[in-house]
Amino acid sequence: MRTEFHVSAGGVVYRRDDEGRIWIAVIRVRDRLALPKGLVEKGEKTLETAVREVQEETGLKVAPRAFLDKIDYWYYWRENGEKVRHHKVVYFYLMEYKGGDPSQHDEEVDEVLWLPIDEALEKLSYKSERQVVQKAREWLLRGRETREPPAPEPG
Ligand code: ATP
Repeated sequence: MRTEFHVSAGGVVYRRDDEGRIWIAVIRVRDRLALPKGLVEKGEKTLETAVREVQEETGLKVAPRAFLDKIDYWYYWRENGEKVRHHKVVYFYLMEYKGGDPSQHDEEVDEVLWLPIDEALEKLSYKSERQVVQKAREWLLRGRETREPPAPEPG
């Protein structure tokens, strides 16, 4: 079976309300709740892709604060009668919300939702993304996010 390899990058966008509660931006595509992300283009660093894709998909302006994690998964698609195996790696960054309008989301996205971080941890469709948000939660509760943009991860 033919295998294709893909690299994407995305973000966990957070904001704090007046009571200090943490909210996370999540995209809904049909019945799935997921983190915004997209394919790394030629010559792009994963950090650049992550910021670009998050801004395009959600309509939000963001500032990257930390590298969180790299996840990977497999999926299978039939293309012209041939079953093709896909292996995707996704680099996720923690990103602070800086403004923008979530109604200006990408047309591939049905809705952008702000969820309290604990609700995002329950409702995100993929376990690996829930683990990334758990990592973001630990960073934010410890105040470990940097004020400077993080160094991009290789890849
Ligand atoms: P990208 O956002 O990287 O441009 P895409 O939207 O074209 O990609 P994916 O989100 O990678 O495609 O979805 C391809 C397949 O993988 C779908 O069947 C989707 O349900 C599944 N999938 C997406 N994310 C995960 C994940 N974290 N774990 C397991 N399966 C996933």
